[in-house]
Amino acid sequence: MAMINNNVSQKLLKTLVSMCHQAQRTTFNAATTTTLPPAPQPSGATTTTTETATNNEGDKIFELEDTKSLFATVPTTKLMHSAAILSVTAVEPVVDFSLWVMTSRFMEAGLFKNVVMGTVKHTAYNHFVAGCDTVETGQTVKRLWESGLRGMLDYGLEHANDNESCDKATQQLIKTAESTQSLTPSVSFVVVKVTAICPVYLLRRVSDLLRWEYKNSSFKLPWKQQTLPIFSENSPFYHTLHQPAPLTAEEEHDLELAHKRLQTICEKSLEGNVPVVIDAEDTSIQPAIDYMTYWASVKYNEAERPMVYGTIQAYLKDAGERMCLTKKAADKMGLPVGFKLVRGAYMSSERKLACSLGVESPIHTTINDTHDCFNGCATFMLDEVSNCPGGLILATHNLDSGKLVAQKAREYGITKDCNKLEFATLYGMAETMTFGLRNAGFSVSKYLPFGPVDQIMPYLLRRAEENKGLLSSSNLDRQLMMKELKRRTKAYFGKA
Ligand SMILES: Cc1cc2nc3c(=O)[nH]c(=O)nc-3n(C[C@H](O)[C@H](O)[C@H](O)COP(=O)(O)OP(=O)(O)OC[C@H]3O[C@@H](n4cnc5c(N)ncnc54)[C@H](O)[C@@H]3O)c2cc1C
Repeated sequence: MAMINNNVSQKLLKTLVSMCHQAQRTTFNAATTTTLPPAPQPSGATTTTTETATNNEGDKIFELEDTKSLFATVPTTKLMHSAAILSVTAVEPVVDFSLWVMTSRFMEAGLFKNVVMGTVKHTAYNHFVAGCDTVETGQTVKRLWESGLRGMLDYGLEHANDNESCDKATQQLIKTAESTQSLTPSVSFVVVKVTAICPVYLLRRVSDLLRWEYKNSSFKLPWKQQTLPIFSENSPFYHTLHQPAPLTAEEEHDLELAHKRLQTICEKSLEGNVPVVIDAEDTSIQPAIDYMTYWASVKYNEAERPMVYGTIQAYLKDAGERMCLTKKAADKMGLPVGFKLVRGAYMSSERKLACSLGVESPIHTTINDTHDCFNGCATFMLDEVSNCPGGLILATHNLDSGKLVAQKAREYGITKDCNKLEFATLYGMAETMTFGLRNAGFSVSKYLPFGPVDQIMPYLLRRAEENKGLLSSSNLDRQLMMKELKRRTKAYFGKA
């Protein structure tokens, strides 16, 4: 059995890799004829300066020079606010100091905390967060819709540790799913974090058991329901060194509750004809998340359209193989599948854990390998869905990947109306890419985290960290926003 799996996975990997090479060759050859955009930069570096992003003669996907049409739907006050926030977050000492303040013991003092929270609310929160509840977020969704974008509703929740907090989170997610009914078609997806609806210790236990079952075919899991492949031969198995104890009756019951929670959220969301996308976390719990995701995919995906999407993290060495295996198994069942493709957000903790155990890191050795894997997976999925049902959410701020996929989608004739390709960027980030893709005629969504300011704080701290420094990916946004503000000022005084 293991040998068969090995052969299958090797074959699938080879197919994926050759497709990726083929895709890159095609793009490169096409680019030399000047009608298509250039191949992804071999250095793998994200294009972050105006010069490199705009000096491509053959670049027909992003019209970055024309900031007037790029920011046409953004009011001047919003543009000024965004440029100011991104400029402040580029100053590393300011961000470091703010991060220190927000995580310091001073925050325990009521008055101090109120002042800090009030400042955060009017600055970073307004920029990166869509609202404090479904009503405020609904207004943001409407504004986005008027500017040609859609929203992916992401109620900002942290990990839950017991059934009570899972139930509370589920109520919020149900409310979120219900709110889509008055907002369709401006909502593209409801985002679910399984860590909010299933206690994290249980996700760890289930992941252990699933790993052990994969490695030992005689090991049976009586509670396991129909799902799709979640491992390849090269997946990391070092988290589970010994045979785990079976689930206790209480754990089985809790798992059933988690299934029911996911079921209720999916059904509520599907009532409004809005698909659900499930976020990916770290490899210690991801097998359980994939197990539940694919269980829901089997249950709810419709013949012509996936209604439950999983997430693939391309920084993992086994990402391409797993995506292929899952897709092929679904094909055999006549089941369309949808994936959100990301690079991955837990690189340092994954590497640290592997290093502490003295095992090989599950993360690609170089960033170029990650870029290749991401672009290869995207090309593979586009190729697959070009003639058959299925879906891809390209969740990235990387301009090169955005261009490559937009170009491929054009070649494959995947248009905005087919519901097969959605570009996704985080609210308040990658505006240049977002508006560029929208202007180029693609379907683009903003990931909209929402919730009360103190609950959303961990998310804000991550965004502040990500945007700091002059080399951050928000540099291009900042430069082009400033350029557009200068243009508007000149136009105003020119007229006066
Ligand atoms: C809409 C949306 C949804 C998301 N959902 C999830 C999710 O569910 N789960 C999740 O984990 N993440 C998620 N992310 C975050 C995502 O994984 C990335 O952290 C983030 O988007 C940056 O990647 P990028 O594609 O924009 O690429 P880039 O801007 O090119 O950034 C590349 C980053 O990749 C990292 N990297 C990856 N591999 C390597 C390597 N081998 N060596 C060095 N650096 C490496 C570096 O930190 C670098 O900053 C989401 C992002 C978006 C936009």
